[in-house]
Amino acid sequence: MSDWIEIEKQYYMFCARRQPVTIVRGSGTRVWDDSEKEYLDFTAGWASDSLGHCHPVMVDAITNQANTLLQTSNQFYTLPQLDLAKLLVENSCLDKVFFCNSGAEANEGAIKLARKYGKENLKGAFEIITADNSFHGRTMTTVSATGNVHYQENFLPVTPGFIHVPFNNIEAIKENTGKNTCAVMLEPIQGEGGVNVPDPNFLQQVRSWCDENNILLILDEVQTGMGRLGKLFGYELYGVEPDVITLAKGMGGGVPIGAFLTKDHCDVLRPGDHGSTFGGNPLTCAAAFACCNFIVENDLSKYVTQIGSELKNGLHSIASNNESFIKEVRGEGLLIAVELSEDVSGDLVAACNNQGLLLNPVRPNAVRFMPPLNVSKDDVALGLSRFEDAIKSL
Ligand SMILES: *Cc1c(COP(=O)(O)O)cnc(C)c1O
Repeated sequence: MSDWIEIEKQYYMFCARRQPVTIVRGSGTRVWDDSEKEYLDFTAGWASDSLGHCHPVMVDAITNQANTLLQTSNQFYTLPQLDLAKLLVENSCLDKVFFCNSGAEANEGAIKLARKYGKENLKGAFEIITADNSFHGRTMTTVSATGNVHYQENFLPVTPGFIHVPFNNIEAIKENTGKNTCAVMLEPIQGEGGVNVPDPNFLQQVRSWCDENNILLILDEVQTGMGRLGKLFGYELYGVEPDVITLAKGMGGGVPIGAFLTKDHCDVLRPGDHGSTFGGNPLTCAAAFACCNFIVENDLSKYVTQIGSELKNGLHSIASNNESFIKEVRGEGLLIAVELSEDVSGDLVAACNNQGLLLNPVRPNAVRFMPPLNVSKDDVALGLSRFEDAIKSL
């Protein structure tokens, strides 16, 4: 054991409450710490390591591209960017894409697009309705979109123009739509908010309302996109077609990339409106293409539905053996939360660390399971037994 924790304390800003685990390498669903202890990683880089750690398809794509071209700029055409654009558009209901470097940046782009759409089509309407407990990022504007005052209160004033309403409540959206509204922006399932699943018809109701009022429906699929919910995109699960979606996390398979995609009717951004030095960079696009192409070609979404229900069923039976400890199991595909009766997610995650299972304490009273999309049946079974052992050890 080295003194990594002390080194971090001395040199790194204290912005993250880390687990006392120093991860040095990974392979598939496993990672190893600096004392060679092995863990089953059901955090998957916060749902970004879609194919697990160091999948050969990712390693090959990155290695080949690193030997070919790392970075030029959007002053020129580059091939991996175009391959990835074509793949995403052809497999979604959207028509055009813009690449950036993170989820927050993807949402910034979508927000700019919606404001320009409002300027051109809705007499300057600029307000965007978002949900309480949503999470859209940490930049000044995306933190303003985020429906959680704790993320905003130290940085006031926030960017104006965001109205927060309760999630899964169509009436609240209706009541808050006015002449200044240009868009509604939602996560299909709220991830950071604690894996909050809406009623099955909620997004359809929002879609109809947006159509009636000629305002945009933006879905933040940074966490739910690229197979995580058992469909390539979360909107498919709810039978709606959004006007704009944003992606990041899982589309890169572990490299930093984001995207926003739009339908043609609201494809309003023009040269000078938006841009990025690294957005659409050959290295990250080649890696993201390898990841997304693997997901599409192997119909990994379908596998996620099967393996996700195994994980969920297993968690349900653990819950029924621990009724006083576990309150609820919820989620879709491989985005699942276990809600606890008390605020003990920190203790539970620490106990899981000891058992060799990495989980995310998404709320004080909830832990989140988000293993790689290709997690095996055996690893799901092992994860479940380690989780049960961790509960017993408390
Ligand atoms: C993680 C997340 C973001 C922010 O992504 P970053 O890459 O951390 O900027 C935005 N929206 C949702 C739904 C997320 O889960």
